[in-house]
Amino acid sequence: MGTTIQINEEAVKSIRKGNFLIYKTYFRPETYHVNEGELLTFQDEQGRFVGRGYYGQQNIGHGWVLTKDEHTQINDVFFTNALQKAFNDRKVIREDEQTSAFRLFNGEGDGIGGLTIDVYAGHCVVTFYSKGIYTFKSEIIRALQKVVAPVGIYEKKRFATDGKYEGEDDFVTGERGEFPMLVQENGMHFAVNLNDGPMTGVFLDQRDVRKKIRDEYAYGKDVLNLFSYTGAFSVAAALGGAKQTTSVDLANRSRAKTEEQFLVNGLPVENERIIVMDVFKYFSYALKKDLSYDLVVIDPPSFARSKKKTFSVANDYKGLLQEAIAITRSGGTIVASTNAANVPMNKFKRFVDQAFKAENSTFTIEEEFGLPDDFKTTNAYVEGSYLKVLFIRKH
Ligand code: SAH
Repeated sequence: MGTTIQINEEAVKSIRKGNFLIYKTYFRPETYHVNEGELLTFQDEQGRFVGRGYYGQQNIGHGWVLTKDEHTQINDVFFTNALQKAFNDRKVIREDEQTSAFRLFNGEGDGIGGLTIDVYAGHCVVTFYSKGIYTFKSEIIRALQKVVAPVGIYEKKRFATDGKYEGEDDFVTGERGEFPMLVQENGMHFAVNLNDGPMTGVFLDQRDVRKKIRDEYAYGKDVLNLFSYTGAFSVAAALGGAKQTTSVDLANRSRAKTEEQFLVNGLPVENERIIVMDVFKYFSYALKKDLSYDLVVIDPPSFARSKKKTFSVANDYKGLLQEAIAITRSGGTIVASTNAANVPMNKFKRFVDQAFKAENSTFTIEEEFGLPDDFKTTNAYVEGSYLKVLFIRKH
């Protein structure tokens, strides 16, 4: 079954050290004619077993090692065991009566790279990050039914060759949900759609950050939420007693989506400002109108292409921070977030340093967040810890 591939000393060491990702340097797929989803058995130059995994093209590699035990087969039992372990690990959050949306299975952190599973109020969303892992769909769905028995299952195919989203209503099996569906997170409510493109309406990895904002940073504050999407941070701030929130996003859909999130939390939307505008235009507008804020949240996409320019965290975050610093009151806080895997925390902190220097201003970092516990990661693949969030107090 599958293809046996001899890899060099360095690749052997890398796998033995615990690396799950099958790096593009391990072998040339042309040489072996492997297909998506094909099982690969890696041997060292002496023919000894090193690991077994699947072939699946992601922008980051050729697939993932699944086991280093020669006798472990990749079958229903394998997927069931992996899901069962992940399920057991989430006992605390599963039993949290104030939270019904969380990550149940987080890729390589739970032993299967390229696969994530999220729970939304009894429904599951399975995300496949390559055609390769998608070939195991039946095994994965069967395992999920056995371990979790969700009400209904939806899928997201993030095969991402041209960045276009593939998928119609994404329903797989069980009962269809009624959308928008309401989920809870630490007592906050969010309206989500599991059948409307790659995103559901709330990014579950920011749970701890939203709670922090609500509980400790919002009361009595003027809050600006940049790249606000459905306004989840604004809702958290409003629930925490913010004086007013302003949400800014370029996408037309953001207005109705944000109003909806306020509504499902019983918050009057008339008090809040929702602005459909390019964030960079908003900075000029705010300066012209002499607007300033106590709390500014910045959570941009890693890359964005608009008509005139492209934005990337690596090149443009420092500038973004500078503009934010200029409209943050002294004593106020900037919540700077990024999910760019190519910008590790130390580099991110350098951007903060440089931005404050350039603005002749000083700061203190008050809080630091990475991924929450349910987004389980492994030291063997540090790129998996993609989320970095800093609460920065401007002096
Ligand atoms: N902070 C959000 C998630 C942001 S997703 C949350 O917590 O839910 C990124 C958002 O940035 C998208 O909604 C996209 O429409 C928006 N966006 C991208 N480029 C933008 C720009 N130049 N100005 C304003 N919004 C932008």
